Amino acid sequence: MKCLGIEATAEKLGIGIVNIKSEILTNITKYKPLTTGIHPREAAQHHAENIKDLIKEALQKVELSFKDIDLISFSQGPGLGPSLRVAAVAARTLALKYSLPLVGVNHCVAHIEIGRLKTEARDPLTVYVSGGNTQITAFVSGRYRVFGETLDIALGNLIDQFARTANLGNPGGPVVEKLAKEGNYIELPYTVKGMDLSYSGLLTAAKRALNNYSVEDVCYSLQEVSFSMLVEVAERALAHTGKEELLIAGGVGVNRRLQEMLNSMADERGSGFFTTPENLLGDNGAMIAWLGILEYTHGKRMKPEDSFVRQRWRTDEVEVLWR
Ligand code: AMP
Ligand code: MG
Repeated sequence: MKCLGIEATAEKLGIGIVNIKSEILTNITKYKPLTTGIHPREAAQHHAENIKDLIKEALQKVELSFKDIDLISFSQGPGLGPSLRVAAVAARTLALKYSLPLVGVNHCVAHIEIGRLKTEARDPLTVYVSGGNTQITAFVSGRYRVFGETLDIALGNLIDQFARTANLGNPGGPVVEKLAKEGNYIELPYTVKGMDLSYSGLLTAAKRALNNYSVEDVCYSLQEVSFSMLVEVAERALAHTGKEELLIAGGVGVNRRLQEMLNSMADERGSGFFTTPENLLGDNGAMIAWLGILEYTHGKRMKPEDSFVRQRWRTDEVEVLWR
């Protein structure tokens, strides 16, 4: 069995093909480089213009045609409505045209499952940090429960918005990480509320600090404060759930300083520490295809008329049939 997965929740369009033996046959991503924040309509237009060729390219790369595909899956949510609709329309059309089963999957759960597939982590607490999401989850009582999350903007969005203000380009993550190596600590607001995080005040303060401190100092302190907040919540979630593994997922997870901080916390607790392989950390089609296979082989079925997009679909609303 082979599943073709379509990812389109934000600015990236991804196509992946995965087989039932969990081998990733192909995984390609395309996006228009950004100079500003994501413009939802323009992102959707980019995806609509490129999706046909990207699917063709994915199939050609591994010398497959639709005759060899058994299942279509797509990112049904959460995400930006216009992007999600491109994935949904394409998936529905292909399913109807080639008489293939269709499953819409949850993007956040896909990040967790590709991490579990490609690392030794079996039952981790997952720290999922990306451009649009910041969530600490663990599998408890049949679902991925959320043990902490951002109350406003995502960690990646904090870094990207700051970087645009400081004229560091887009995406901001890699540049901020590099500049942070040369910086010293300045005080910035640290906001953890119960088990949740708030990054918007930190963003305002970091932008303001650019008037009085070097960009290196602000980058360093922005990372130290925002990552420490995440480590604090993750540590309490580990203690509460009793999980013995910590997994990083999402594009911000490539950050070495973040990895180091989470790793040292996990180490001190005697927990295992795992990072999703770098090529699968960011949004991609393979994770959507893999979750499609997991769901379909465990009984999930979806009629095309039920394949509407779910912009605010929460991780803990997904019934996990495969665990
Ligand atoms: P995703 O939404 O999962 O595709 O991830 C994209 C996000 O990862 C963007 O917000 C990037 O700024 C962020 N990112 C990429 N590289 C790094 C890095 N080295 N450090 C921190 N964030 C990063
Ligand atoms: Mg993502």
